[in-house]
Amino acid sequence: MSRAKTTAMEKAGVGRRGGLIDLILVGMVLLAAGSRTPLGGLAQWAWALATGSEAERPSLIATFDTGIVPHVVARIEASLGPTAVDVGDGAFPEPYRSAALATLPAEVPAASLALVASVGEAPHLPLAILDHLHRGDPEATLEIYAIGEDLRARAIQRAAAAGEPDPSSYAVHRRYLPAAAARIADELVSGTLGAGAVLSLAWPIAGEHRISSPYGYRHHPVLNKRKFHNGVDMAVPVGTPVLSAQRGTVSVAKEDDLNGRYVVIDHGYGVRSSYCHLSEHSIEKGDVVERAQQIGLSGNTGRSTGPHLHFTLRVGGETVDPEKFRPAAPAAS
Ligand SMILES: [Zn+2]
Repeated sequence: MSRAKTTAMEKAGVGRRGGLIDLILVGMVLLAAGSRTPLGGLAQWAWALATGSEAERPSLIATFDTGIVPHVVARIEASLGPTAVDVGDGAFPEPYRSAALATLPAEVPAASLALVASVGEAPHLPLAILDHLHRGDPEATLEIYAIGEDLRARAIQRAAAAGEPDPSSYAVHRRYLPAAAARIADELVSGTLGAGAVLSLAWPIAGEHRISSPYGYRHHPVLNKRKFHNGVDMAVPVGTPVLSAQRGTVSVAKEDDLNGRYVVIDHGYGVRSSYCHLSEHSIEKGDVVERAQQIGLSGNTGRSTGPHLHFTLRVGGETVDPEKFRPAAPAAS
């Protein structure tokens, strides 16, 4: 929210210098409003409210998060999943390597252009530069690739001076970056790390099971109309262990009439997963869970027509089809 305020103040200050600059800045503000600013989020939310069902409405909160922008989501969905190439120690690692192939534009950011000469010819230049920059921390590597060492170091310094805990974490010091740099870094850092999280999901049910209702539009037998299903239903007996799809922090663990007993896990970088109709959960809000850790037992609570797990995956505030990112079953031996 502070970023939009800054933009407005910058506009007011610089605008006095001339009509042309004014016009360009108004254009930039409108462009920003259309993408990831609170104003843009509100407009998108209102549009979804006016035209779509409740399930399609993007989360307003998510629009304010550091997260993956929608066009990056489309690119991740189009990607084929992790290739799990063994590229040796020191190289930019999986699953972020595959994510980078899907998310990074071929055009190298200005901050990394100076490195191109030393990298030389490469089949995928962004990946070659990431390999060159990588020192063991994918988040730092992507941020340096996006905006350079200096801007990052200054933002960390400011965050530390302001008494922030963990200033070197991107989520913490991004608020101390210039707005334009934060936008570029968001897309490359959050986009790629979020895509990596999605490309290395654990499936929440371990054993064999039937998908009783897939993601997407379906004919609702009771309401007798087309309705959007924002997740995947897995038909499993009450008491089946439910696993966290990815490492993350529990943001919700409660109960309501619709979802029954349910859990939402925030995996960072705009990725969230939820698990509904549970019979019980074994974690509480604020707990950190590992990938594939048991978080509860499936059930038939809330508005449910039979024992099943409803699993929703959100990327950048929008739901995506989890089955697109379902890990392949291990080959029978
Ligand atoms: Zn469902």
